[in-house]
Amino acid sequence: MASEFDLIAQYFTRPTHHTQLGVGDDAALISISPGMELAISADMLVAGTHFFNDADAYKLGWKSLAVNVSDMAAMGANPKWATLAIALPELNPAWLAEFSRGFFACADAFNIDLIGGDTTRGPLTISVQIMGEVPIGQAIKRSNANVGDEIWVSGHCGDAALALAHIQGKLTLPVDALASCAEALHTPQPRVALGLALRQIASSAIDISDGLLADLGHILERSNVGASLMLSRIPHSAYLADKLAGAGHRNEGVANTHDNNILSMLLAGGDDYELCFTAPIEKHAEINSLSEKLALPLSCIGRITANTGLIVHGFNDETLDFKETGFDHFS
Ligand code: ADP
Ligand code: MG
Repeated sequence: MASEFDLIAQYFTRPTHHTQLGVGDDAALISISPGMELAISADMLVAGTHFFNDADAYKLGWKSLAVNVSDMAAMGANPKWATLAIALPELNPAWLAEFSRGFFACADAFNIDLIGGDTTRGPLTISVQIMGEVPIGQAIKRSNANVGDEIWVSGHCGDAALALAHIQGKLTLPVDALASCAEALHTPQPRVALGLALRQIASSAIDISDGLLADLGHILERSNVGASLMLSRIPHSAYLADKLAGAGHRNEGVANTHDNNILSMLLAGGDDYELCFTAPIEKHAEINSLSEKLALPLSCIGRITANTGLIVHGFNDETLDFKETGFDHFS
């Protein structure tokens, strides 16, 4: 029977690239580059709450780190180091091999050193802490959106929610839509290159983990402003486009339950890990060029308003009454 130390050596110890002392001592040692400050964040994934018990181990490894990398992206920070605290119900070498392969695939993709952690027996729980660097004073906070700023979002909204609804049998996605939506749900691509470029451009930013309206709501609250969004500008998959076109052509706007479910995926679906950010209107062209350069859709979906509150204008310019603003673990 392998000891905890063998397990750590075999699955969680890899050469580091920018670390003074990594896994193996009582603590790791890192040096921050001159002129930089440290951005630190942690995100925990619990079996049964954040993923299904039979989740693919490789994808879970990827996602555990990716959701943390996404927080660095949302701050405009360059992710560099991570720690991993993991509780495992049993010592399953095949599972551990796949989990660590997924975790290090994400670490390699973003040049992150795993520098330590903790390993214990218990209900499957994965807690990652991430650290990154950002030039002093240049972090993109939630609290700096200004009246008149445009509101932007990267990629698509609602893809991960669509995949989840498919898995739960609430709808059936066509094969090609399922492939891209399942990728958004299980192996999200954190928008690091975008976050770094936005240091010079964005007034505020957040990553969309709990749904567009809920997460934009955090920016509004912290910045003490409101927002006006255009439903027709919110970027989504071709599958949702079909469904929404049906809803939009009805004179009464979006009224029935089916349409509301579709809307709720678009506006309140969690787990997308796209960035929502605000920027002065003068930056509009620069953001469009950035979108081309990164080959990543960036959509202007509305404006920051002085009236606090969040208004979504529907296809017929009606104001949507939209109560479900996100997934709240405690509601
Ligand atoms: P300690 O008893 O000093 O807390 P541990 O036995 O928990 O040390 O861990 C030994 C070393 O292995 C430490 O450097 C720790 O950071 C590292 N470590 C433990 N678990 C993990 C893990 N899951 N991933 C990466 N490093 C780990
Ligand atoms: Mg320990």
